[in-house]
Amino acid sequence: MASLVVANWKMNPKTANEAKKIFAGTVAGSKKIKRAQIIICPPSAFLGLFAGKAKKVKLGAQNCHWEEKGAFTGEVSLAQIKDIGCRFVLIGHSERRKLFGETDEMINKKVLAALNFGLTPILCLGETAEEKEEGRTFQVLKDQLEKGLNGVIKKMADKIILAYEPVWAIGTGKVCETCQAEEVNIFLKKAINEKYGRTIANAMPILYGGSVKSDNVLSFIKEAKMSGVLVGGASLDPKEFIKIAQQIDF
Ligand code: PEP
Repeated sequence: MASLVVANWKMNPKTANEAKKIFAGTVAGSKKIKRAQIIICPPSAFLGLFAGKAKKVKLGAQNCHWEEKGAFTGEVSLAQIKDIGCRFVLIGHSERRKLFGETDEMINKKVLAALNFGLTPILCLGETAEEKEEGRTFQVLKDQLEKGLNGVIKKMADKIILAYEPVWAIGTGKVCETCQAEEVNIFLKKAINEKYGRTIANAMPILYGGSVKSDNVLSFIKEAKMSGVLVGGASLDPKEFIKIAQQIDF
């Protein structure tokens, strides 16, 4: 399976010009990439700028609402992001959980709605520093996974991507040890196997996210056997982002 390399720009580019520069740099660099699949998730306000602008690079949104339309001021719908060319959507990022009060129940509604809409949800899971210190990592992941996938039937489960993002590693420069990432990978695969069977467990991509750079990415694929990476800060620098993709382009 070719690696997935997902860019989460968060709310960072301040202007359309800045966003266009990062996009153009990434698209230009992507010509060096043979197998890895690049997915860029710009802020919603800039998504429309990139619709249909690059074949090799796919577009994703950073969030969505679960309702099709209606009185939900400030929200973005799946119909809207699909219409402007998104095929992927980040769901349950730890910043959404922590800063915007997203619960597992809300995240589950988003996952179900994205699947029903034909978009691929990238469901983010991860423990906080406190939960890790208390030895609750696996319980937290099990809970987030079970609740996030509640009601997702086997027929739809093969459309899901998981992203393990230890919260304490996001934007901190503290990288998760590959042995922990590998343990989590095995744990999540086992949980998916129990829920949906071996074929889906083997096929479901599990990404790692949290302070990924070109000098640490390889171990997450080679040692922890992740299917790819979700990159925040480093995705704003197209040269570094493409270097990351090059490292795992096999
Ligand atoms: C993220 O926000 O998903 C992320 C992984 O951020 P960073 O790479 O900056 O740690």
